[in-house]
Amino acid sequence: MNHDDSRDLYDRALSVLAGGVNSSVRASMPYPFFVEHGDGAHVIDADGNRYLDYVMGYGPLLFGHDLPDPVQAAVQSHVSAGPMYGAPTEVEVDLAEFVARHVPSVEMLRFVNSGTEATVSAVRLARAYTGRDKIVVMQGGYHGAQESTLVEGEPGSVHPSSPGIPDSFADHTIPVPFNDPDTVTDVFEAHGDDIAAVLTEPILGNMGVVMPVDGFHETLRELCDEHGSLLIFDEVITGFRVGGLGCAQSEFGVTPDLTTLGKIVGGGFPVGAIGGRAEIVEHLTPGGDVFQSGTFSGHPVTMAAGLETLRYAAENDVYDHVNALGEQLRAGITDILEERAPQYTVVGTGSIFKTIFTRAGQGGTDRCAAGCRQRTDCPNYDACPKTGADVAAAETNRWERVFWQEMKERGVFLTANQFEAQFVSYAHTEADIERTLDAYQEAL
Ligand code: PLP
Repeated sequence: MNHDDSRDLYDRALSVLAGGVNSSVRASMPYPFFVEHGDGAHVIDADGNRYLDYVMGYGPLLFGHDLPDPVQAAVQSHVSAGPMYGAPTEVEVDLAEFVARHVPSVEMLRFVNSGTEATVSAVRLARAYTGRDKIVVMQGGYHGAQESTLVEGEPGSVHPSSPGIPDSFADHTIPVPFNDPDTVTDVFEAHGDDIAAVLTEPILGNMGVVMPVDGFHETLRELCDEHGSLLIFDEVITGFRVGGLGCAQSEFGVTPDLTTLGKIVGGGFPVGAIGGRAEIVEHLTPGGDVFQSGTFSGHPVTMAAGLETLRYAAENDVYDHVNALGEQLRAGITDILEERAPQYTVVGTGSIFKTIFTRAGQGGTDRCAAGCRQRTDCPNYDACPKTGADVAAAETNRWERVFWQEMKERGVFLTANQFEAQFVSYAHTEADIERTLDAYQEAL
C-alpha cells in the first residue's frame, strides 16, 4: 500500500497540531493514515487505500459510515434550519424523553458535549449531593480527560497519571481493582463516610475489554446503599450498544444512581449526557446550585442525529445484526488463536471485541470463550481477564508495531492501542467478517 499522501499530511500536521493529531489515540506508528471519506463499513484514506473499519470512531458509529436515511434527513434539516441558537429546542426534549423511557436509571438528564464533560459533571454532582469528596474508581478504567480520574497507584499511594494535575486531586480518588469485591469492601470500611460515589464502567472498555464477574456490580450497589454513596455507571462506551436501548445496566440488572452517556447517543456528533434519579439530577443549575453549563450543549444537529439513530435502532434489527456478527468474529478469532497464538485471548461481548496479547487470567489452561460473561462455571473462566492489571501485562509493542501494521496492510483498520475496544457496525456483513478472519489468520 502506498501511504505517501498520509505521510505528507502528517508532516504538515506536526507543525500545527500538537503531536499531529487532535486526540492522542489517533497517533499510530509510524504515522496515522488520514481519512478522506467513509463508505459503509469502510474508510478510504488520502492515498485511496480502502480499509474495513473496526475503530468506528472509537464507538459512536453504530451504523458505520452511511447514516440511515431518516438520520441523514434529520441532520440536514437541522443544519439548514440554522445549526444552533443558545435557546432550547424541541428535539432536545424528544431525545431526553427517549433516553428516559429506555434507560432504567434515567428519569432526568442533562446533555453536554463529550463523555469527559459528562463524567466531570457527574462527579461534581455526586460530591455536591452527598457533601463528600472521595470517589472510588477502577484501576484500568477510563472516564475521559478529567483531573479526578486520571490517577495511578494503589489505595494509600495514589498520584495523578499526568503532569499538570495537582496531587490534591488524587488525594480524593481511590482506585481499586475491577472485580475485586473484597478490596472495595475494605475501602468502604475505611472511608465509607467520605465516599461520594463509586464511578465505574459496567465493562472496562479501554483496558482490552474486561467483563464484570458475577455479583461484582451487585456488591458495588449494596456498598453504596449501605454507606449513602452514589453508584455511577459510565456508559459512554456501553450505552446503547451493550444491552441495546436499555444499555449495560439493563443487561446486568443493576441500576446505578447516575449514568454517564456519550458516543452513540449523539449519532456520530459530539455528545455526552449525565442522567439519573430526578431528585439528584435536578441539583444541576439552574434548578439547583451545582454549576453546569455549555455553549454547544444539546446542539440541535447532535440531538436530531441521536434521536433518529436510537429510533432507527428501535425499529430495525440493528442490535441483533451487530451482536451476531460480533459473536461470529470472536468465535472465528478464538479458533485462529488456538492454532496460531494460544498465548493470546479474545475478549468482548455483543458488538465489542478485542484480541489481547496476553493470556490474561492467571493460571488459566483454556482461552477465554467468545462472549464469555465471566460466570464462575464457565470452562474458560480462569483465562478471562478480571482486572485492568491482567490486561496490562499484554505485549503492547507487538500489537502496535507488528500485528496492527500487518492488519492495516491487509486492509483492516483496528484500534492502534492494544487496550482500546473495537466495534462491529450495522454496515458490516458476514462476508466482511470472513475477510477479517482471513487477515487475522495471515497476520497472526
Ligand atoms: N468514559 C468512557 C468509558 C470512555 O470510553 C470515554 C472515551 O472513550 C470517555 C468517558 C470520554 O469521552 P470523550 O472522549 O467523548 O470525552
